[in-house]
Amino acid sequence: MTANVNQVDSISALVRDGYRDIALYSVPRGAVALDLSDNTNLWGAPPAALRAIAAVREESVSRYPGAYEPALSEALARYVGVSADMVACGCGSDDVLDCAIRAFAQQGDVLCLADPSFTMIPVFARTNGIVPIAIPLTASHGVDVDAMIETGARIIYLCTPNNPTGGALSRSTVEEIVERAPGLVIIDQAYVEFGGDDFIDLTRNGRPVIVTRTMSKAFGLAGLRVGYGVGAPELITEVLKARGPYKVNSIAERAAMAALRNDRTWVAERIKEVIVNRSRLRAELKMRGIDTLESAANFVLAPVTDCVALASRLERLGVRVRALPQLRGIGDAIRVAVGPWEMMHDFLEALEEAT
Ligand code: PMP
Repeated sequence: MTANVNQVDSISALVRDGYRDIALYSVPRGAVALDLSDNTNLWGAPPAALRAIAAVREESVSRYPGAYEPALSEALARYVGVSADMVACGCGSDDVLDCAIRAFAQQGDVLCLADPSFTMIPVFARTNGIVPIAIPLTASHGVDVDAMIETGARIIYLCTPNNPTGGALSRSTVEEIVERAPGLVIIDQAYVEFGGDDFIDLTRNGRPVIVTRTMSKAFGLAGLRVGYGVGAPELITEVLKARGPYKVNSIAERAAMAALRNDRTWVAERIKEVIVNRSRLRAELKMRGIDTLESAANFVLAPVTDCVALASRLERLGVRVRALPQLRGIGDAIRVAVGPWEMMHDFLEALEEAT
């Protein structure tokens, strides 16, 4: 069979309009001595979860897991204080966010989010044929409630604490949005263990609200990819339909359940350390003339000049941070994950050398 030289062109022509020009998510490659770029748990993974992985039995590998992981949903439901039919797990909370968007908006609908906020959200919107509209954060880094409501969006996405600013929304702001929104409200709480209000209570009473959370940050299980959404049972069923069966693997499910059962003290201690080191890091940066934003998360956002050049100088010194050029209302900034103080000390030393 001779190859059709037009085949490459025809693949590109076959790709959905509005989808073709979405780029693959680009991640930094290569090992680095100190990686502070992804807001994971820098103390590592919790001990009971690791023991559960070491004790995995053959059938967890050779057989399918439960289609919608009922045991893990039950454990997460107990953890957040709702019934198991109010929980949908996913391959990371990324998966749950993507599925919620797909289930509740159709091609051409609008999803409204703040700018800056979690960069994957406009991507998930566009891959699902939804139009993202970004509304600038206010001068105090809050959300502009009226402007968000006025978009008439089918989905309003809130992130609290927000990535990348670290700021937490007030209860009155979130409640007002839930009250006035014409459609679904997604409240992304990937960093809630580190600060800010918990909004699980807004998912009760059958409201069109989903709170998404993750085991990738405070629980130290990013490599296992376990996230979850909490909402009314009817809403959760719709998200699970969009997700499909068998999306959380058996080993991840077992480790996550072990962490929820036996690692809560370990997690709580790490959270306390993050909170102490976060203030200390902000104070150290302030002494070096860098005014970081108030943070309720396990990272700090530091406005700097030419963040890309600074990040590559730091990388050459073995420290990776996330460079965020030209953030709306903030300008260039680096985002630095908070971990054990020795790591923060090494980062500060590298920063001094790089500036
Ligand atoms: N939401 C926010 C705000 C995040 O920063 C992240 C991770 N960067 C996620 C969701 C997704 O995390 P995961 O898929 O690991 O649960």
